[in-house]
Amino acid sequence: MNSYLENVLEQTKKRNSEQKEFLQAVDEVLSTIEPLVEAHPEYEKLSILERMVEPERAILFRVPWVNDEGKVVVNRGYRIQFSSLIGPYKGGLRFHPSVNLSIMKFLGFEQIFKNALTGLPIGGAKGGSDFDPKGKSEGEIMRFCQSFMTELYRHIGQDVDVPAGDIGVGGREIGYLFGQYKRIRDAYEGGVLTGKDICYGGSLARKEATGYGLLFFMKEMLSAHGQSLQGKTVTISGSGNVAIYACQKATSLGAKVVAMSDSNGCIYDENGIDLDCIKEIKEVKRGRIKEYLECHPNAKYMESNGEDSPIWTIKTDIALPCATQNEISLNSAKKLVKNGVIAVGEGANMPSTKEAAEYFLEHGVLFAPAKAANAGGVATSAIEMTQNSIRYYYTFDEVEKKLERIMINIFNDCKKAADEYGHSGNYIMGANIAAFKKLSDAMKAQGVV
Ligand code: NDP
Repeated sequence: MNSYLENVLEQTKKRNSEQKEFLQAVDEVLSTIEPLVEAHPEYEKLSILERMVEPERAILFRVPWVNDEGKVVVNRGYRIQFSSLIGPYKGGLRFHPSVNLSIMKFLGFEQIFKNALTGLPIGGAKGGSDFDPKGKSEGEIMRFCQSFMTELYRHIGQDVDVPAGDIGVGGREIGYLFGQYKRIRDAYEGGVLTGKDICYGGSLARKEATGYGLLFFMKEMLSAHGQSLQGKTVTISGSGNVAIYACQKATSLGAKVVAMSDSNGCIYDENGIDLDCIKEIKEVKRGRIKEYLECHPNAKYMESNGEDSPIWTIKTDIALPCATQNEISLNSAKKLVKNGVIAVGEGANMPSTKEAAEYFLEHGVLFAPAKAANAGGVATSAIEMTQNSIRYYYTFDEVEKKLERIMINIFNDCKKAADEYGHSGNYIMGANIAAFKKLSDAMKAQGVV
């Protein structure tokens, strides 16, 4: 590796030695942009890489709230404002017990590049809490969200930092967060949060956008390699926001989704997943995926053993990891390849380990990396911000068309960069180089700030 790149990677490891997910994300980017760094010797003098891997600001705060038994519970809140190079900080909030500084920084770092790829003026951020929404009552969820916003409000604003949802934060939580922000600020700043319900300033097609965008990217990638989604089998991990709408779009584009999962296990239905049943379990009852067997007794259920997810042992043409980071290990990648997978599209953030992603590339599997393939969510959030600014609503069709165009552009940018730097077909490299180039140009233009 180029010595400048190597030094920055070493320094970053020393400074953040406890933050394994963050280091993994930095390693993934730095190890793929060598041709760009070689072509730009001025990066070293300007410390472009050192500045890119250091968040502009990292906020950590206490979130006290009262549970239904009257006991005070204390969680930890985060907001990592990683980069405002090309627009206000922008990125989701995650409520999950695994949340820590490393996970927040990895997600914030990824977000900078993803947002740059959308071609829209949005910087990169991420936030959240180690709060676990599972099993909490409506009242507890609301009180937690209100307490979280009582601190967060001072750090955000529609031209400053615009959070959205992520794992554990959907329309319900965004509503409670928005209500509290509005009350504290005593002003209707619609564009301060995205993922809002349509009745108070949300965008049509935002809920669907990440999953739909993933399939638009996949369709483009397959077509560039003489393939299509028609008649392909698909397995999708997760059964949350991204997974549900990925399933919907995959089906409407002619593929057959045969498996989905949650953190307890996965279901396999050779007749094709009944998405209405999944939506009822996950969006209405907030239940477990195993309950699918109640409406489809012929489907199969495989319990997770806490290690590799059983979903990756199922034979499929296309695998769409849409649950969480590092859910495809090298071992799972080997099983998928052995079973003949032709393409992998990352709906979740960093769902494949570095070794797994490399294994796919080495074995000729078409690989759509997260920061390009799941950028449709944040792109549509930016479209929501536009509608809030001009105080107008676009129709579902208008938003979906804009989303599709954006995903096609992202694919073309990734392809162009990969071709230009001599790594055709490697869209990890293409995505990282295209995004890094744009950000480093902005950094150079703005001086040392
Ligand atoms: P949701 O909370 O709606 O759904 C998450 C799903 O993943 C659930 O089915 C959940 O199962 C499962 N899951 C979560 N953690 C684990 C785990 N440790 N092991 C196995 N399964 C797990 O989240 P989203 O659909 O919004 O997000 C999914 C992924 O997509 C995340 O990586 C997120 O960062 C990424 N993403 C989301 C975007 C969005 O617009 N929402 C945009 C871009 C990326 P269970 O219910 O059992 O916990």
